[in-house]
Amino acid sequence: MEHYQLAVIGGGPGGYTAALRGSALGLKTILVERDALGGTCLNYGCIPTKVLTNSAGLFKKIKGAEDFGIETQGLSFSFSKIQERKKYVIDNLVQGVDGLLKGAKVDVFSGEGRLITPTKLELKRDSAEVKEVSVEKVILATGSQEVKLPLEGMDLPGVLTSKEALSLEEVPKNLTIIGGGVIGMEMASVFASFGSSVTVVELLPRILPTVDAEMSRRLTPLLRKQGINIMTKTKLEGIKEGESGLSVQVTTGKGEERLSADTVLISVGRRPDFGGQDLDSLGIEYDKTGIKVNENMETTVPGIYAVGDVASSGHLLAHVATHQGVIAAENVAGANEVYKEEAVPACIFTSPELASVGLTEEDAKEKGYKLKIGKFPFTANGKAFIQGESEGSVKIIADEEKGTILGVHILGPHASDLIQEGTVAVANKVTAHNLADIIHPHPTLCEATWEAAMAISKSPIHIRK
Ligand code: FAD
Repeated sequence: MEHYQLAVIGGGPGGYTAALRGSALGLKTILVERDALGGTCLNYGCIPTKVLTNSAGLFKKIKGAEDFGIETQGLSFSFSKIQERKKYVIDNLVQGVDGLLKGAKVDVFSGEGRLITPTKLELKRDSAEVKEVSVEKVILATGSQEVKLPLEGMDLPGVLTSKEALSLEEVPKNLTIIGGGVIGMEMASVFASFGSSVTVVELLPRILPTVDAEMSRRLTPLLRKQGINIMTKTKLEGIKEGESGLSVQVTTGKGEERLSADTVLISVGRRPDFGGQDLDSLGIEYDKTGIKVNENMETTVPGIYAVGDVASSGHLLAHVATHQGVIAAENVAGANEVYKEEAVPACIFTSPELASVGLTEEDAKEKGYKLKIGKFPFTANGKAFIQGESEGSVKIIADEEKGTILGVHILGPHASDLIQEGTVAVANKVTAHNLADIIHPHPTLCEATWEAAMAISKSPIHIRK
């Protein structure tokens, strides 16, 4: 029987990174993937959504280009070409991962992996057993799946998951999105830019319920201005076939309502996918949030680790999976690396983008901090004005007593790139005073972050008293 020092089950960002790191540390490594290398992120998640977001953003920008002195008569788009480009980008990135694994001499098995005991792994292809291998240590990186709603009409044609929505061949005329979370709002932004009439149905009082409440409140009217109809405190009751398309039954504060749509996207969250592992017989503890792990990413069975969406770490994000994959692989090789979750950046690729790291204002208050909050609007930032993207602001939350930055929230242009300054600040317990003392280049968007720090430490420069 073939023997491996490390077996990784699942080839998404958590799994392939763990395999690469394990191999780099000299471990004989096998990676098992039943679908496509790169997992949800590369094939059905981060990458395809961002290809569409990018094309949508470009289209929107060119539409507004006359303000910049550029003529754009006859502007149009081909959704099939955008989809072709999406495939091209995905194929390239997946081939890149394949090449990295080959280069690192990781054995890749295309098929299903199931742990029979903590040291015996069964490998199957097309439901037929291919072989068993013995393993010393295991990293489970089997990811997550969409949550399905137990309601009428979920199987009707035109009622889609995000995976299916990303492969649409045409832009829907009337799109109803159930769930105003990250995926729902990104899809709303994309399809509204391509001309869909979009309605978002959200059960809670606000969209993006996990982000800082003020930032969610500021983003909502900006999205409404783009034509997105946002219905909060609204509950989906079921979907029926209507006279022309689908009839979406919802309950609002005012009673029952029917919304017509040709396409409905169900986007109400994701749950861990245990990948067919018999966790009970292996003795691995888990709950509905995922496999329980300690700070070393090790499960309740020594030698078996879990990373990414399947681990109960709370953040279903690709960069978290990647980071945890590195930590788990290093611990398999004998290190004592620890996962810290205080400074996890999270980016929402709406238009404008919303990115955050650390505590929200609500969380910080609940934890008992007295706060000093610095804000700076992009309307007062030269670069944002030049770009014609002055919507949004930077908000820094600091501990009043020590000045330590607890959270940074950025709504505005390139927020997903700007947030990393906040991540470095939160991770290293930097004070607002320290940040205000650092020279920021001009003219740039990151001057808005500096001004928000100045608003806490001294006073902002470019705000008229
Ligand atoms: P996955 O990427 O899900 O990989 C798990 C892999 O394991 C899968 O390929 C699966 O086939 C395989 N597998 C499962 N069981 C077995 C088995 N028994 N044998 C063999 N293989 C198995 N995150 C971000 O950070 N930024 C974004 O912009 C972003 N956008 C997203 C957009 C969408 C529409 C979605 C759905 C998700 C998005 N995410 C984003 C989340 C991100 O995709 C996930 O957090 C990330 O993919 C998790 O990585 P993972 O390695 O844990 O799992």
